[in-house]
Amino acid sequence: MKAIDAAGADWIHVDVMDGHYVPNLTIGPGVVKALRPHSSKPFDCHLMISPVDAFIDAFAQAGANIITAHPEAGPHFHRTVQAIKNAGCKAGAALNPSTSETMIDHVFDELDVVLVMSVNPGFGGQSFISSQLRKIETLATTSLKRGLDVIIEVDGGVNPETARQCVDAGATALVAGTAAFKGGVSQYAPNIEALRGH
Ligand code: ZN
Repeated sequence: MKAIDAAGADWIHVDVMDGHYVPNLTIGPGVVKALRPHSSKPFDCHLMISPVDAFIDAFAQAGANIITAHPEAGPHFHRTVQAIKNAGCKAGAALNPSTSETMIDHVFDELDVVLVMSVNPGFGGQSFISSQLRKIETLATTSLKRGLDVIIEVDGGVNPETARQCVDAGATALVAGTAAFKGGVSQYAPNIEALRGH
């Protein structure tokens, strides 16, 4: 993480998976807390867990700056968004490839971030689902029309080619695992620069 921080990453994106909402198991607030002293960059915690509300405070206390949850992960997503804000974090909504942007229409004005999943959540290394570009466009337009400045973040299959497509569609934040880490530590900085289009 120190290496990716030094290489120029803007945020540290943490994929939290519970083996229940998604078919993989990763890390919890204990690891986030252990990582926290090693970077001053914002921690963007993407919670692919259900239920989610009971864990929000733990991730906030562990040092998350942005907490993003999936609206299907609980019965009352508006409450989830409020809980994230009450915990002192920026609030995000994550949309799976099959989830319509209409699902968050009534909480859109409360959101700091909308995360468009461009692969099905669960594993790294999957290919970008290009039908999500239209969703990115719709969300970017909604933010503009409502006079908001919601960050439109894309997660999954982001590489220099798909990064350009996402930014052209209106994305303002890109998550990259495979494309950032490939080639080892010496390549992190050029990999990040390539994603920025340089
Ligand atoms: Zn993620």
